[in-house]
Amino acid sequence: MTDNRWAWCEIDLSAIDYNIRQIRKLMQPKTQFMAVIKADAYGHGLVEVARAAYVAGADRFGVATVDEAVKLRLGGVRAPIQILSEPPVTALPLLMEHDIIPTITNRSFFGELSRAAQRAKKVAKYHLKVETGMNRIGFHPHDVVSVLSEARSIPHIELEGVFTHFATADVAGDWDARNQLRTFGEVLRQLEQADITVPIRHCANTAATMLIPESHYDMVRVGIGLYGLHPSEDTVDTVKIEPARTVKAQAIYVKSVAMGEGVGYGLTWSSYKPCDIATLPLGYADGIPRLASNSMEVLYRGKRMEQVGRVCMDQLMVALPANSGVAVGDEFVIVGEQDGAKITLEELSAHAQTINYEMTCRLGQRLEKVYV
Ligand SMILES: *Cc1c(COP(=O)(O)O)cnc(C)c1O
Repeated sequence: MTDNRWAWCEIDLSAIDYNIRQIRKLMQPKTQFMAVIKADAYGHGLVEVARAAYVAGADRFGVATVDEAVKLRLGGVRAPIQILSEPPVTALPLLMEHDIIPTITNRSFFGELSRAAQRAKKVAKYHLKVETGMNRIGFHPHDVVSVLSEARSIPHIELEGVFTHFATADVAGDWDARNQLRTFGEVLRQLEQADITVPIRHCANTAATMLIPESHYDMVRVGIGLYGLHPSEDTVDTVKIEPARTVKAQAIYVKSVAMGEGVGYGLTWSSYKPCDIATLPLGYADGIPRLASNSMEVLYRGKRMEQVGRVCMDQLMVALPANSGVAVGDEFVIVGEQDGAKITLEELSAHAQTINYEMTCRLGQRLEKVYV
């Protein structure tokens, strides 16, 4: 499937398109859609996903780092791009050059942004982050009106948005998320009373977009859902989305082993009966968790097969019944569907005691992405 390596990710861009259109059905037509494509689009490929998301109706993009934003611009993306936290002031010239919108969380940033904008002969838009309960980043709700009142007199900058972020939106009916939403609403009311206009008010991540319609305001920020992954069990029934990634490999080596032979580093697995062993050319450097050694399964001819022995850096072994007929070049599915059988990213994540968010990033590390 790829010229240089018999292991790869297939990224189905039509799934991204479908997922955005599905999630949009939960929203008011006028609500904007920010596609959150930080971390190389959760390991799916930054620029490719941005293009597909834009065609599907995403209005703008959210990223985590300056480098991600610049890469988007160099990739030809012209829609607004926001960095979801405050970047280093040393990156301000780059922000001005590429019209990248920063988030502000510290008072000292206003003056720096103003000076950078003046030097670039531009008016710099920014979004202000409000802390409503997660205690990660953002201005205290009590300080927002005074901060933004002062900011009105600072030249060359323009408030485009005010936002917050939920800690527990993925739990249906959660009280803490309701409290955060209430606090955010209170801040927005105070701003209105102070005659401070906020063009884009936003707080909903994927979970809140799916579970809390009142949280949509002017824009939602959808990350994990774009990729066809659910933020938690609680959102699964709210909308049908399709995973965009399949991880595949072809056997690079096959052999038969007798009963009682060990397999892999440490010989942590031994055959309890004669069997065939197929070696696949991917491992923990590709994001396959070593913690999943001897417990994960892969698909072969639509059936589940046990992964055996420790997952190595670049290879892993799979046990098949004796005389299986497996041959070098045969295709295996590590995550995804094959002939009606399925291994979800969530299943692999559970073996590694983590969540789909982390697994999807890890699987983006080294495997070549093939867009289908
Ligand atoms: C990552 C991120 C999102 C997207 O979260 P998902 O749960 O993936 O939808 C939204 N907002 C902010 C501020 C983020 O950092």
